[in-house]
Amino acid sequence: KAKEQGVNKFKVFNKAMHEKALKSLLIETEIRQGIPENEFFPYFQPVYCLHSKRLAGFEALVRWNHPQRGFLTPDQIIPVAEETGLIVELDRMVMLEACHCLSSWLKRHPAASDLFLTVNLSPSQLSKPDLAEAIEKILYDTGVSSKNIKLEITESAIMERNTASSQNLKRIEEMGIKLAVDDFGTGYSSLAQLQRFPASTVKVDRSFVSRMAEDHESLEIVRAVNALGHSLSMDVIAEGVETRQQLILLKQIGCDYVQGFYFDKPQTKEDAEKLVKMRAEGFCPPGLTSM
Ligand code: C2E
Ligand code: MG
Ligand code: MG
Ligand code: MG
Repeated sequence: KAKEQGVNKFKVFNKAMHEKALKSLLIETEIRQGIPENEFFPYFQPVYCLHSKRLAGFEALVRWNHPQRGFLTPDQIIPVAEETGLIVELDRMVMLEACHCLSSWLKRHPAASDLFLTVNLSPSQLSKPDLAEAIEKILYDTGVSSKNIKLEITESAIMERNTASSQNLKRIEEMGIKLAVDDFGTGYSSLAQLQRFPASTVKVDRSFVSRMAEDHESLEIVRAVNALGHSLSMDVIAEGVETRQQLILLKQIGCDYVQGFYFDKPQTKEDAEKLVKMRAEGFCPPGLTSM
């Protein structure tokens, strides 16, 4: 009896694993086919400066217009793309398209020429020998200046450094592109690793920001990350700001930039351009004017 159960359990386990593998394989095939069909494109989430009280830039976030399943978000894309290595091509497509957008916005609204664009870079991308070259080509082809670009690398990825990734980082720095440490507080990097990593910006993870108004420890973590960032001469961005209360606390703490649903969700390129136009005309978002 016990043996029978054991066998059945094994079968169930096996079946679940089999289904999961089949699903990944299907998604992999679909991503592979979707890349040349331009099914992937960026949405843009605005980032606001708490000092100037203006729109400061956008983060590009991948979306998938799937022919059967419709509009898909990164959680349905990134894990399989990472596993299969397709993420490298995907990230570059997103960066290319996002740079095309930025380039045309700044041409039409030159008064907003100091806006930055941040692009997420998968950890596996960092050790690709042709990374710096690929980025250089994207900037050249789109006419975007390196000073408008920031690359986001998650805290967990900054620990996995090797010769190739160090060379890439060096070349990226030499090009004048800035780096940001994403989701800070969730990884296990040491202070020494953070100090050695040539980033100009640190992004406080959303999980701390979302709890900071109710949970004293989360508030203190945000305060500590902000102080750490500033003491290493980095700008600090708080992500996932959803309430006025969080915004007020972040302003009190001295955080530099905010990003979150309190202001805007990630937007289509058309809606993002409307914000660029308003920014070029000197517009200050109502949520920030009274601060
Ligand atoms: P991330 O880089 O930390 O991006 C921020 C995520 O938080 C975005 O989710 C954004 O929509 C969401 N978010 C922003 N403000 C709020 C808020 O106030 N409340 C809540 N609940 N969420 C908020 P999204 O677009 O689903 O992206 C998820 C993650 O997928 C990103 O986290 C990033 O790690 C990854 N990702 C997105 N696009 C790319 C890409 O092109 N390449 C790579 N390698 N990774 C990407
Ligand atoms: Mg990011
Ligand atoms: Mg983040
Ligand atoms: Mg995050």
